[in-house]
Amino acid sequence: MTKSSVNPSIRRRSLLTGLAATAAATVTAGAAALPRSAVKAWDMSIDVLVIGSGSAGVCAAIEARQAGAEVLLIESLSQLGGSSGMSGGVVYAGGGTALQKALKVEDSVEQMYRFVSLAGDVHPPLDKIALYCEESPAHFDWLVAQGIPYTQKLTLAKGLPMGDESLYFSGTEQAWPARELATPAMRGHVPGVVGMNGGRRLMEALLSRAESLGVSLRTRVSADRLVTESDGRIAGVIVTIEGEPRAIRVKRGVVLACGGFIHNREMLKLYAPKLYDCSVPWGNVDDQGDGINMGIAAGAAALRMHEGFAIAPIYPPENVISGIVVNASGQRFISEESYHGVLGDAITYHQKGQAWLITDQESSYNFQQDNFLPVAEGSSINAIAAQLNFPSGALQQTVAYYNQHAINGDDPMFHKSLTYLRPLQGAPYKAWDLSVTQAFFPAHTFGGLHTALDGEVLNSFGDIIPGLYAAGRNTAGIPTAPYIASGLSVGDCTFFGRRAGRAAAAANGDLA
Ligand SMILES: Cc1cc2nc3c(=O)[nH]c(=O)nc-3n(C[C@H](O)[C@H](O)[C@H](O)COP(=O)(O)OP(=O)(O)OC[C@H]3O[C@@H](n4cnc5c(N)ncnc54)[C@H](O)[C@@H]3O)c2cc1C
Repeated sequence: MTKSSVNPSIRRRSLLTGLAATAAATVTAGAAALPRSAVKAWDMSIDVLVIGSGSAGVCAAIEARQAGAEVLLIESLSQLGGSSGMSGGVVYAGGGTALQKALKVEDSVEQMYRFVSLAGDVHPPLDKIALYCEESPAHFDWLVAQGIPYTQKLTLAKGLPMGDESLYFSGTEQAWPARELATPAMRGHVPGVVGMNGGRRLMEALLSRAESLGVSLRTRVSADRLVTESDGRIAGVIVTIEGEPRAIRVKRGVVLACGGFIHNREMLKLYAPKLYDCSVPWGNVDDQGDGINMGIAAGAAALRMHEGFAIAPIYPPENVISGIVVNASGQRFISEESYHGVLGDAITYHQKGQAWLITDQESSYNFQQDNFLPVAEGSSINAIAAQLNFPSGALQQTVAYYNQHAINGDDPMFHKSLTYLRPLQGAPYKAWDLSVTQAFFPAHTFGGLHTALDGEVLNSFGDIIPGLYAAGRNTAGIPTAPYIASGLSVGDCTFFGRRAGRAAAAANGDLA
């Protein structure tokens, strides 16, 4: 998203153009936080500095500005919007949002909480989830108030709506076991625009709002290091502008909102090796982990660094869900109707990155696609098993067992819904490669800084680092692996970004 494509009225401000070339000490990006004593003079000062122009950063900036702070938002790239602007723009919201009510979709805070807290990883951040669910209807109202357009249309089809519908089942709510944990409800709220343009529309609205409130937006300014007082409080940030280091004094709070680290190969190897081989880094090129590293260097703890959204988007088309997914032992391991993030997680984290989709004539991809390549084809299951390296007879047994029950409308192992359950019968049979290296297998990271409910960054003792806030994929938030529904990430970014911005504006910093 280029700056001009966001909103023609948004023009780079000249706030930093008069910075003196005097102040900052020599800076090595990636090194430890800089003691304040090393900064000879500040080039400028601001109440709240937000680093990163994605949904987390812009929501933080809007709220901080509305709370009366002077706010500068810096973005390392020449374009604003981050991964948020590339995204589908889905926000996971529920508990009775205005849109759910208008479309007569029944939901409750309790059912939403049950789903988000029970359907994913063990020991999720329950305090964040509870707050997020309780305030979800009000948060959705806030998004609408920022100018994000939603239509009063829903769709029952699986997958991100490509029409202008604004409500759908964005996750694994209807698949087993999730549907037994909580009553399924449509909670994927997506801007009502045709095609994969929801994120762009969402960010246009948020950036335009920030600009109109008087947030100073500055591109091509990258944050390198935090500056700390002797007591650990954050005093400011060293940034790079046109190749030169500059020192920004921050009077109230710094909000780190630099996104995740899917494009940082070294960090992936170090922290999230299972995501390393996933074929498509899903995000903005500056998802390099800068904010996470700056936070760690200032004493922050980082959580869930190995977790991420690993995506196996086998549907649409929905007919392929009648096929079966098997592992290297030729055995099923999941309900095929599971959301992309749940299936992707199972393959990436639990099946050594390998799986195959086995289809018959009816469940085959019925159009030209290159996400998943056919690696075996034949007139019988025996014929395709012979082309794959499964243990002898394993795939035949899996299919026989599956068919024997499917014909009676039963799936004793994974309880596939009747909509998709039928025996595999009818040549040609095919095997499609779902492996993380060969398939279209996007991934992005979930691990990040440990934060309290208002975005305060915590150290490994659980103490707040004064003056430091973070939000979005810079933090370990609500999204955990397996990722159970589209929209939990941008939902978490926007919701906790707002809270971090408000808290930073209210912080009683050293105004010297
Ligand atoms: C194609 C695609 C579709 C997706 N669809 C959805 C969806 O529909 N719903 C959903 O919930 N999630 C979706 N996601 C995931 C989601 O987009 C991200 O998890 C989320 O947008 C992260 O937001 P953020 O504000 O934390 O970071 P970002 O939006 O990535 O913003 C961070 C910004 O910080 C900047 N930055 C980085 N380092 C520095 C630095 N040192 N100094 C200054 N600036 C810096 C970056 O350039 C970037 O602009 C999708 C992702 C992709 C790629």
